[in-house]
Amino acid sequence: MPRLYLSPPDVGSAEVEFVLETFESNWIAPVGPQLDAFEREFADLVGSRHAVAVSSGTAALHLALRLAGVGPGDEVLCSTLTFIASAAPINYLGAKPVFIDSEARSWNMDPALACEVIERKAKAGRAPKALVLVHLYGQSADIAPIKACCERHGVKLIEDAAEALGASYGETSPGSHGLFGIHSFNGNKIITTSGGGMLVTDDAALAQQARFLATQARDPAPHYQHSTIGYNYRLSNVSAAIGRGQLLRLAGKVTRRRDHYRAYRKAFAGLAGVEMQPEAAWGQSTHWLSCLTVDPAVAGATAEDVRLALEKLDIEARPLWKPLHLQPVFAGAESHGGQVAERLFAQGLCLPSGSGMSEEDRDRVIAGVKSVLR
Ligand SMILES: *Cc1c(COP(=O)(O)O)cnc(C)c1O
Repeated sequence: MPRLYLSPPDVGSAEVEFVLETFESNWIAPVGPQLDAFEREFADLVGSRHAVAVSSGTAALHLALRLAGVGPGDEVLCSTLTFIASAAPINYLGAKPVFIDSEARSWNMDPALACEVIERKAKAGRAPKALVLVHLYGQSADIAPIKACCERHGVKLIEDAAEALGASYGETSPGSHGLFGIHSFNGNKIITTSGGGMLVTDDAALAQQARFLATQARDPAPHYQHSTIGYNYRLSNVSAAIGRGQLLRLAGKVTRRRDHYRAYRKAFAGLAGVEMQPEAAWGQSTHWLSCLTVDPAVAGATAEDVRLALEKLDIEARPLWKPLHLQPVFAGAESHGGQVAERLFAQGLCLPSGSGMSEEDRDRVIAGVKSVLR
């Protein structure tokens, strides 16, 4: 039996059709009609006015932070329980990440704690410049109280929705509330362009500046002239063509991932000491990855025992993100709280969740988990 991966690409024939169009029209470039169409379709889908397609989610976040005015010495609040890419661009700009713990309800940034930190810093006359809010594993954070606190103190809100395309927050999309939202089309995400990302914003001038910075910051002149340093961050027209095909089946892909989550939850409901990531009342998660925690004191086994048992069956499972405040590269960085994220990291495991995974394969995972936990 082939190895079962956590979240492999799930690509169909529409993608091939769109890619063929790029070859037939010879738009094999970082500009072109597929790119324009992908941006328009994406913006409509998530309910943002503008979308700028770039080479990765990390690049999108780098542009967002720079356009939010983040520079050397500035402080930027960031969820601690997340992938390194949520915070690395803070360092690209010479700014300082300040890590905020999760809340148990959603595993996302604790709104009360975040606001407490913002208020204390604002009172001391040094409000953070920006806040990167992650929507973990497709579950949207509790955006409203964080946004309100940011607005009161002039903190620019940037949403990392890399795992949350197709999720909801009330009637809206996570990623459409901040000054900027970012998305990822890496090979393991909900949709893929083989690699790519999107920056979304309601501000036309900021979207235009993002395109300018993403294409080497060329001033409007017939010759090559530059007044600031930019980046080579644009997505290619070919990649955008893949993205358009993927976008057509987004709803079905999200439904599939949610089905996996529901099946796992049902199968593990009777297992002592085992909990799935909770789904918060304020919106539907994509369940990009279905994650559970194992309390060893109750379960009599650890999440690592489960991971090793699955590995023996050639099934990939992984611990949750290691909190960034525990990462060697961020040793000495300021952080607040951390116990919730640390417990989730110690006890958590992500299970195979791809939208292309069959029910038979899912049953293999369930049987593997149940071979360790009873
Ligand atoms: C994948 C991911 C990113 C970065 O996306 P890339 O396209 O791989 O650069 C950022 N944040 C989170 C939370 C992610 O999961």
